[in-house]
Amino acid sequence: MKPSDKIYVDPEIGEVTFRKSVRSRSIGIRVHPVKGVSVSMPYIVPYSAAMAFFRLRREWVLETMAKQRERYKDVRIPTAAEIEAMRRQAKAELPPRLAELAARYGFMYGKVTIKNNATNWGSCSTKGNINLNLKVVRLPALLQDYVLLHELCHLRHHDHGHAFHLLLEHVLTDNILKLMDSSATDPETAAMAVGFARKAAASRAKYPLDHVLTSAIRQYCAL
Ligand SMILES: [Zn+2]
Repeated sequence: MKPSDKIYVDPEIGEVTFRKSVRSRSIGIRVHPVKGVSVSMPYIVPYSAAMAFFRLRREWVLETMAKQRERYKDVRIPTAAEIEAMRRQAKAELPPRLAELAARYGFMYGKVTIKNNATNWGSCSTKGNINLNLKVVRLPALLQDYVLLHELCHLRHHDHGHAFHLLLEHVLTDNILKLMDSSATDPETAAMAVGFARKAAASRAKYPLDHVLTSAIRQYCAL
């Protein structure tokens, strides 16, 4: 909390932080599942004006909070035993799939390590070693492949530039076409592949498959 912050306690919402910020261009309200409700405003705006703005949007804040509670109600921290079970599953399943995809698309990598990372799904070192988050095994097969292919493409391009994305779109497209064939995979994955291919075809994003798959991963589970 900054010294200029003002806290207002709403009977239903609880604490609302009013904050003056040099970055604010207009009054804005944020509803965050963990950090709570805050109202930001430029320095020239008086607190009373921000309060009037907040009062007008109080119902929206309450509705947003209800939606967030619904969305996050099943999210809980896994126990140590659950993490160990996930680690065993990840070690058994992810390296063989990574090897299969690497062989198919002609990638050579060094070591694979599986860790309980807090901030990323995977990473690739300049030495060509791949590090995967054990939580990847909780994703559906198609999204697991996205993470693996993303890291494999970093073996050739260590950034997220245009060349990286062209290569990634190329291998994602080939892989999704293979997964759409239900004789080569399970019916659930095949149906999901068809759904994502349709979404990507309708997307106007610069890298459509990357866009629809990363959005899906974000929705699936918070790290
Ligand atoms: Zn990356």
